[in-house]
Amino acid sequence: MNKYKLLIITIFLMTIISVSRTYAIINNYSLLGKTIYLDPGHGGIDSGTTYKKIYEKDINLIMSKKLEKSLTALGATVYLTREIDKDLSLTKHNRKRSDLINRAYLINKTKPDMYISIHLNYLSDSRYKGLQIFYNNKNQENKQIAQSLTNYMKEYTSNVREPKYNSTYYMYRNITSPGVLIELGFLSNPDDRYRLTHEDYQDKLITNLTNSIEKYFQEKR
Ligand SMILES: [Zn+2]
Repeated sequence: MNKYKLLIITIFLMTIISVSRTYAIINNYSLLGKTIYLDPGHGGIDSGTTYKKIYEKDINLIMSKKLEKSLTALGATVYLTREIDKDLSLTKHNRKRSDLINRAYLINKTKPDMYISIHLNYLSDSRYKGLQIFYNNKNQENKQIAQSLTNYMKEYTSNVREPKYNSTYYMYRNITSPGVLIELGFLSNPDDRYRLTHEDYQDKLITNLTNSIEKYFQEKR
């Protein structure tokens, strides 16, 4: 082998080593081994809250899929209760109840490290705005998740409201795994509505939420 060939091979090998090292650094699989269940609220004939042609169910799904992508990139195993525009009910009567029972069943069956249900809020008073995290005491970790995610998210997202205890949501009373329900914003508020329907804000919010989830698991260790 002449010197020239050896040099080419050496450069080639060094490039491969440095590229793979960079790849490993970029892909710090900080959520490897964690299972996260995402639950995009509503679907199908159940649109959730609406404003003209903007449906809560669609934004919930868009945001959940973005979150799935970013959490998967950190090594997490991510499940979704629905991936299309469809509710989860198995019966025609008491449809809503059947839908919620099935969501809780799927999550309980998998026993994830965390579940996150994604919704949008709506109030007749359009002044209310911001993201808010709801929790119950079915799992003792729920309050801590709500408080930590709220604190982390406040650093990079404006109008993050204080977490709120709520034990009345039927579905969440039946989920034994740790988790929370996040209302990403108010569809009734013009500012929130504008942001939630624009991809640059959607992406920023998901990046913040992903980093907050990552931080939660790191601090928990
Ligand atoms: Zn909802």
